Amino acid sequence: MSSLEQRNPGQSEFLQAAKEVAEKVIPYINDHPEYEEARILERIAEPDRVFHFRVTWEDDKGGVHVNRGYRIQQNNAIGPYKGGLRFDPSVNLSVLKFLAFEQVFKNSLTTLPMGGGKGGSDFDPKGKSDSEVMRFCQSFMTELQRHIGADTDVPAGDIGVGGREIGFLFGQYKRLRNEFTGVLTGKGVGWGGSLIRPEATGYGSVYFAQEMLRHRGEDLDGKKCVVSGSGNVSQYTAEKLLTLGATVLTLSDRSGMIHFKDGLTEEQLAAVMHHKNKVRGALVDFASANGLEFHADKKPWSVPCDCAFPSAVQNELDDDDAKTLLENGCYVVSEGANMPSTAEAAHRFEQAGILFGPGKAANAGGVATSGLEMSQNSLRLSWSREEVDKRLQGIMRSVHETCVEYGTENGTVNYITGANVGGFVKVANAMLAYGVM
Ligand code: NDP
Repeated sequence: MSSLEQRNPGQSEFLQAAKEVAEKVIPYINDHPEYEEARILERIAEPDRVFHFRVTWEDDKGGVHVNRGYRIQQNNAIGPYKGGLRFDPSVNLSVLKFLAFEQVFKNSLTTLPMGGGKGGSDFDPKGKSDSEVMRFCQSFMTELQRHIGADTDVPAGDIGVGGREIGFLFGQYKRLRNEFTGVLTGKGVGWGGSLIRPEATGYGSVYFAQEMLRHRGEDLDGKKCVVSGSGNVSQYTAEKLLTLGATVLTLSDRSGMIHFKDGLTEEQLAAVMHHKNKVRGALVDFASANGLEFHADKKPWSVPCDCAFPSAVQNELDDDDAKTLLENGCYVVSEGANMPSTAEAAHRFEQAGILFGPGKAANAGGVATSGLEMSQNSLRLSWSREEVDKRLQGIMRSVHETCVEYGTENGTVNYITGANVGGFVKVANAMLAYGVM
């Protein structure tokens, strides 16, 4: 870790992610010296390459703006680089490197042939017109297209990049390269997208919680659940929880948290989706228009629950929040977001022995279904909703089985160990096969 810290000064998110992996994988490596001799972990922690470029675009009044664009190609030992694009003012090299690093292990867990990457920009789509977002996306893709391709690197969405942005990005790639290929995932169903892809991360996170509970002979029916965020992952987490008979008590965004005391209804969820996806508004306005209990600048973690689904952003759940959740009886945490729990919070959950599904396992359903979109694009076929959902459920079961295989300690499953070691082994073995490079 100290040499990693020296080489990556100030990259706190990346170092946090690397430390979690190192803590779990190094004991395993100690029993398997071939990985140590080939310095596999050090090699995975160093991206294959990092692209950093200027994105210049014009607003509706003709004003010129300059943003930064990035693509991190972390590791392609088991398949083309694969990972989302994030557009948010908080984006920097450290955030994207942590996400790209996590992606390597997550993609390996899915059982599909995908390497790890991530990219994005400090551009903020909020408050921009559709035309401004289009001009930004076109400028971003004009540079990015040099570095990606259906067999090289296949980006997707993430925070701030949904169906609208993927449309503008894919359209520009198609125009510049004159080819219609599966170079991006999260596309619309009429132009190469997969059914269930928008739902997949949220559904997958719920399926993972269901698998952890089943392993103990329980299920989600009747469970009280808190969900953070109200974007793509949160919306479909809430939807699947309702289908499985659970009660959803909260949703949140940057403005604060809505407490649905009697449980979120399907009608309320549809209205939230419209407000966030079409109106692109804040929950504070939705709550006041609908007479709902709203807590400004608050997160959901103080609401008593059985299960928590942190589904917004990294480090949104700290040690105090973890303590409060445990004191209130929470015993299942399934991370829909990437690294939403701080290192201290994750350790607290681990020590408490609750069912804690770390993001690289629990939210792997999103990228797995992106992998299924790539398969359908290669086959030039589209699978039905039922077919994709069945495959997604099968993949989440496999991810869970891998965690059980590598994470069982004294009869209980440590999902942090299971996900990190299980994700590492496949990538490490491929790298050994390739020799020193
Ligand atoms: P969206 O942009 O659709 O939604 C993000 C949500 O998080 C919004 O409700 C947003 O609030 C909230 N949020 C973002 N930043 C903050 C912050 N600093 N404080 C409080 N709330 C915040 O993104 P997604 O749902 O796609 O992604 C959510 C998480 O899931 C991310 O960590 C992402 O990396 C992860 N993930 C996503 C996958 C996917 O398929 N989309 C796949 C795997 C992981 P507001 O509406 O106010 O902006």
